[in-house]
Amino acid sequence: MSRIRSIDPTTGSVIEEFDEDSPEVVDQRLAAAATAQRMLAAAGFARRAEWMRAAADLLEAETDEVAGMITAEMGKPIAQSRAEVSKSAATMRFYADNAESFLTGTALAEPDRVGASAARTRFDPLGVILAVMPWNYPIWQVARFAAPALMAGNAGVLKHASNVPRAALYLGELFTRAGFPAGAFATLLIGSARVEGVIRDRRVAAVTLTGSEGAGRSIAAAAGDALKKSVLELGGSDPFIVMPSADLDAAVETAVRARVTNNGQACINAKRFIVHADVYDAFAARFTERMAALTIGDPARESTDLGPLASERGREDVEELVDDARSRGARILTGGSRQDGDGWFYRPTVVAELTPDMRLWSEEAFGPVASLYRAESLDDALRIANDNDFGLGSAFWSTDDTEIDHAVAALEAGAVFVNGMTVSYPDLPFGGVKRSGYGRELSAEGIREFCNLKTVWVA
Ligand code: NDP
Repeated sequence: MSRIRSIDPTTGSVIEEFDEDSPEVVDQRLAAAATAQRMLAAAGFARRAEWMRAAADLLEAETDEVAGMITAEMGKPIAQSRAEVSKSAATMRFYADNAESFLTGTALAEPDRVGASAARTRFDPLGVILAVMPWNYPIWQVARFAAPALMAGNAGVLKHASNVPRAALYLGELFTRAGFPAGAFATLLIGSARVEGVIRDRRVAAVTLTGSEGAGRSIAAAAGDALKKSVLELGGSDPFIVMPSADLDAAVETAVRARVTNNGQACINAKRFIVHADVYDAFAARFTERMAALTIGDPARESTDLGPLASERGREDVEELVDDARSRGARILTGGSRQDGDGWFYRPTVVAELTPDMRLWSEEAFGPVASLYRAESLDDALRIANDNDFGLGSAFWSTDDTEIDHAVAALEAGAVFVNGMTVSYPDLPFGGVKRSGYGRELSAEGIREFCNLKTVWVA
C-alpha cells in the first residue's frame, strides 16, 4: 500500500505523510458505519439536528485552524478558505433546520382511487453511503454531502482525494466529536484503486462522486454492475455569455471572479466567455486588463488573489491545453505561462481566437485560463455555449427580457445565472447534465437522492 502525502503547492514541500488504511481497518470502519447507521435512523430528526448543529459550531470555532490547513494543503487564498469553512457550517445548520420538512412524505388526497383507506409516501434512509470527494473544496464538498446524508439518517464513509489527507482526517473525527454515534461518518484513507471494492461491499448502499470524468466512469461502472445508486458531479466548462445590453463593467468584474475563484479550479468556474460582437472588443480589453492585474502569490497572504494550482500534474494539464491552443493559432492576450520559482503557479491567462481543433475548445481548463469567443448573434452565442459535452452551470448577461427567457430555456446546463455567476447555495439544487454528471446535491432534491421513497398503502 502506498503512502498518502500532503504537499504544500506553494512550495512543493511535503507537509505530512500517512500510511493508507489496511483492509482490516477499512472493514472495521464499514462495520462500525453499518451499526451507527441503525442508531442514526432510530435517533430521529431532532437528535440528529442537535448533533449536526454541534458539528457546525465546532467547525466554526476552528475556522482559523481549518482554513490554514486548506490553504497549506491545496493553495486556496486564505480568505476563500475561511469562506469555505463558514459556508460549510451554514449548510450543516441549513439541513439541521430543514431536513425533517424536506423528508416529510405526502398523503394521497383521494386514497379510494387506489382502493385504500389511506396512502402516503415517506423517505427512509438508504444505509451507508460512500462519498468519493475532490481536493478543490476539501471541507465544503464533504459538508454538502455529509449534512444531508447524516440528517436523513444515513451513515457516510469518505474516500477523500489523496492530496488532502489532513482535511480527510479532520472530517473523519468532526462528526463523532460533535456527538454522532461512533462510526456514523468515517474517513477511509485509501487510494482510488480500492474504491471499487468498497462500492461492492454489501454494507455500502450507494455512492456519490465529485471529480473528473474518468473517475465518474469507473465509479458509475462499478455502481452499475453492483446495482447501486450513484450521483455524479463531474467537470464543467461553463459558458458566460455577454450581450450588448449588459452592464459591461459589472459583467467584467464578475467574469474575472467567476474565472479565478479557487485559483480557477472549481467545476462551476466560468471558463468560456462568449461575447456578442458589438461589445466583444470592449469586453476583451477590460477583462484582459483585470486578469493581468491580479495579485498572484502566497495564498496565506490576505492580499493574494491567485495562489498556486493544487498539484504539479494539474499545472501541467493547464499548460498543455494552452500550449496546444497557441500552437494551433490562438492568441494569448495575457499570461500563457507558468510562473518561475517554487510552487505550482500559473499566470492568469486569456486566450482568444479559438477553433474547434484546439483541445481548449472542448476540454475543461482547471486553472486560471479564460477562453474568449466572439458571437455574431444570440443564437450564435447559444450555439457556441451548447457546443460542448459539459452542462453544469452557465451565466447569461443581458437586460433584455425576451433574450433572457430564450437563453434560460435554451442553455443546456444544470443552472443558469442571469446577470451573475454560478454559485452553489444550500437552498438551490446543484448538478449537471451531459458529461457533467447526474443527480442533484443540496436543497430538498439533494437530501432525497439517498433516500428510499417508500409508498405506504393501507387497506
Ligand atoms: P479525480 O477525479 O482524479 O479525483 C477526485 C476523486 O476521485 C479523488 O478522491 C480521487 O482519488 C478519486 N478517483 C480518481 N480516479 C478514480 C477512479 N478511477 N476510481 C475511483 N475513484 C477515483 O480528479 P483530479 O484531482 O485528478 O482532477 C482532474 C480533473 O478532475 C480536473 O481537471 C477537473 O476536470 C476534474 N475535477 C472536478 C472537480 C469538480 O469539482 N467537479 C473537482 C476536482 C477535479 P485519488 O485522489 O486517490 O486519485
